[in-house]
Amino acid sequence: MILVLGGAGYIGSHAVKELLDKGYYVLVIDNLSTGHRNSLDTRAVFVEGDVGDSALLERVFTQYKVEAVMHFAASCLVGESMSNPLKYYENNVINSFNVLKVMVKHNVKKIIFSSTCATYGLAENEFLNEDSPTSPINPYGRSKLIVEQMIHDCFKSYGLDYIILRYFNVAGADFSGRIGEHHNPETHLIPNVLLHLLGKSKHISIFGNDFNTADGTCIRDYIHVLDLVEAHILSLQEVLNTSPVGRVYNLGNNKGYSVKQIIEQCERITKKKAHVVYEKRREGDPPYLVASAKKVYEELEWIPKYSLEDMIRSAWQWHKSNPDGYDS
Ligand code: UDP
Repeated sequence: MILVLGGAGYIGSHAVKELLDKGYYVLVIDNLSTGHRNSLDTRAVFVEGDVGDSALLERVFTQYKVEAVMHFAASCLVGESMSNPLKYYENNVINSFNVLKVMVKHNVKKIIFSSTCATYGLAENEFLNEDSPTSPINPYGRSKLIVEQMIHDCFKSYGLDYIILRYFNVAGADFSGRIGEHHNPETHLIPNVLLHLLGKSKHISIFGNDFNTADGTCIRDYIHVLDLVEAHILSLQEVLNTSPVGRVYNLGNNKGYSVKQIIEQCERITKKKAHVVYEKRREGDPPYLVASAKKVYEELEWIPKYSLEDMIRSAWQWHKSNPDGYDS
């Protein structure tokens, strides 16, 4: 059985669907704090609970034969991590410690861990590869980096096989229309722009247009959630079939788009005009984060299939059909 922690969240739910479609048995633990009951796939076993609850993890690992863990359960907002860092150290660091402890105790020694490009910090217009310096500028990035280091120590000392995936900016939705992105409140750029274009907000804010970039707005590398999930499946196969494995991969498209470019693309695709309001920078935002994902292309033959246009179109389809997300 593959244990998916945070399987009711945006990325977790897409991973669960793909694992099930590929024939894996899937067990989900989610506390539904940011995940949605309606996103759950009825083919998966669901245990409602918190990964911070050691007794619950102990029960699950005793009851089920867990072969590997995919760990998506985390808090993941840069801005929130600046105002409430302890939430990040608790949900991301302490809870992951619990997970690793129960895994080692039960001799489950395969993990795929969701990390982030926020582990890198400030970059100067260059592609980030896995050997680029990690010097996060917000507690979110620091909390993920600490867990990466804990996992690596478990690899060295207990033989825990791992693949850490550092996500760049994930967007888009499954083409079935059953699952998609729904955060409350929504803070991510692409859903915020599309929800604005659907009439859900009066304007779209651009947080800072005085960065040292071509148009002054932040540059990010966007990746379709289905491409991201495909990399998880390949990584899972790798840790299940090979040992020792202790690797870190970037997941991105090797291409940067500014906030302004994203808004323009959304306007073009939806044929609607956004009302843009410039606001001050959001604390903790690095100006430039673009991946070199060469290593995972070479080692796992992972090739992203979808373009920015595919991400925006699939997300638009989801938001149009579900204007209130899973509450629609
Ligand atoms: N952003 C923005 N307006 C929004 C949401 C985001 O200008 O309503 C900017 C944000 O400041 C950052 C970029 O868009 O520079 C991507 O932000 P997002 O929250 O989508 O992802 P992050 O890079 O923080 O993980």
